[in-house]
Amino acid sequence: MENLLVAANWKMHKTLQEAEEFAEDIKAAKAKASLLIFPPSPYLARLSALLEGTSVEVGAQNMHAEEKGAFTGEISAAMVKSCGASRVLLGHSERRQHFGETNASINGKVKAALKHGLKAMLCIGETSSERESGRTMDVLRAQLEECLGGVSAKEAGRITIAYEPVWAIGTGKTATPQQAQEAHAFIRKTLSGLFGKEYSKTRILYGGSVTPENAASLFREKDVDGALVGGASLDVGKFLKIGNAG
Ligand code: PEP
Repeated sequence: MENLLVAANWKMHKTLQEAEEFAEDIKAAKAKASLLIFPPSPYLARLSALLEGTSVEVGAQNMHAEEKGAFTGEISAAMVKSCGASRVLLGHSERRQHFGETNASINGKVKAALKHGLKAMLCIGETSSERESGRTMDVLRAQLEECLGGVSAKEAGRITIAYEPVWAIGTGKTATPQQAQEAHAFIRKTLSGLFGKEYSKTRILYGGSVTPENAASLFREKDVDGALVGGASLDVGKFLKIGNAG
């Protein structure tokens, strides 16, 4: 298994100057985990240039499924790549909630990202009512099957999954290590069923109120391969502590 991957989702936070300072601090620091930053898209080119030659990767928080066209305000996979970014985050629950994204529309984005050589991080996760009614695994299976439909086994090698229970995002309510492990083991089994045995090696990150205090207990679980961090990733010190927690 590869080392842990710890990713920062900055959402709609930070000015360009603040983003540059964070990148300089990260460059000067050491982390046991591989690090990845998803900044706001106007900063992709600048951060990719600042972090070139380091092991820190940069990715977009979203992109459009179409190659180009009359889609004011949107960015394409080719644009993300041309900024020097290697990854894209897709299907975040905030995109589903506020921008009407569905498994079907996310599937179009996943296929476009992979076609353009990007690595796609697909976010999946259940709501609190889905968990309370015992439907967590059914929801996860449907999200995986529908968001990854039509993806070849070869392309699936560039997929990373972020398991983000919706009730844990930005709420301070972290999943217990046992809840995370149970979901991750299920996701791993489902991926192997979809793409073949070797996809049991796909990295599966946990996301949802990860902090320097709770990261180590999550990382001890066998199937937790890192974290996607929102709030705590805005502070370089906290982000690095999570990157060194494994
Ligand atoms: C996220 O937005 O992906 C996330 C996990 O946020 P937070 O860490 O703030 O819960």
